[in-house]
Amino acid sequence: MDFQTSFFTYCPNCQSTDFDFNDLVKFHCNACEFVYYHNIAAAVAVVFTFEDKLLFTVRNEDPDKGTLDLPGGFIDPKENAESAACREIKEELDLDIQPSDLKYITTSPNQYLYKNIPYRTMDIFFECALTSDKISIKARNEIKDLVWIKRNEIDVSMIGFVSIKTVISDRYSQ
Ligand SMILES: [Zn+2]
Repeated sequence: MDFQTSFFTYCPNCQSTDFDFNDLVKFHCNACEFVYYHNIAAAVAVVFTFEDKLLFTVRNEDPDKGTLDLPGGFIDPKENAESAACREIKEELDLDIQPSDLKYITTSPNQYLYKNIPYRTMDIFFECALTSDKISIKARNEIKDLVWIKRNEIDVSMIGFVSIKTVISDRYSQ
């Protein structure tokens, strides 16, 4: 076992160090047969549009603090993706949107290192057209700033997450 690539030092069940955790997907303890799947998590991101501009957030926390991001977050257990998007938008921007306001765009895989645990996610992207660019931050612990950027002025190197970089460069930046 290569401990450089595992975030477990011991089996959580029996404390053995004799385990496999290939690609950080399936943890299997050879001593007690304990099995744990480190499955991907689902998350949502919302691309707000106004005229020829897109709304980006500036991350105020790690991972990737200071980089451009999109509003959104992890989907809670028993929640669907549209509800998660509406909840996150309310929490982060104090904006009321409905599932019917959201247009499905695509999905893209991401990596999310949090306190040395590498989470892998499937990010589900929605688009939402706004009739005003007057948006304010509610979750100041998460969001440092909001910026509207014209499609032809987007610098994808300023975006932190690979999933968002991919979707913005493939579908939005000109
Ligand atoms: Zn064990």
